[in-house]
Amino acid sequence: MSSADLRDLYQQVIMDHNKKPRNFREMSDANHLAHGNNPLCGDALVVFVKLDDDVIDDVSFQGSGCAISVASASLMTEALKGKTLAEAEALYEQVHKQMTGEDVDSATLGKLAVLSGVKEFPARVKCATLSWHTMHAAMDSDHNLSVTTE
Ligand code: ZN
Repeated sequence: MSSADLRDLYQQVIMDHNKKPRNFREMSDANHLAHGNNPLCGDALVVFVKLDDDVIDDVSFQGSGCAISVASASLMTEALKGKTLAEAEALYEQVHKQMTGEDVDSATLGKLAVLSGVKEFPARVKCATLSWHTMHAAMDSDHNLSVTTE
């Protein structure tokens, strides 16, 4: 794919997922969650995960932020549903690498490969990685957290 094509695809996917974020909801039966903040931009989100043994049964997010942070979180929830913890961890590493300009296997990344477009906007890398860091923090919480819905 040429870099011009990638840039177009990047803009389209970011706009689409920002306008209609997938899995954008609070999850009342989540057993892991974490809050993520990116003060540089003002992005703030909560990632909810429902783990069944080591399989991600459900994953969702809520919060507010710029288009890239919301779109990246939306793409992440789509990609992680049904994955095992090990698969999620591997994906997290790949996503992280591609955003920092390292070589990655774009076949493993699938749709997420489009996030590599953020490399052209270094100031926004933190926006794009926020949901992934937050997901990672949620998985690392070794106790089950109860979510209070109001
Ligand atoms: Zn942002």
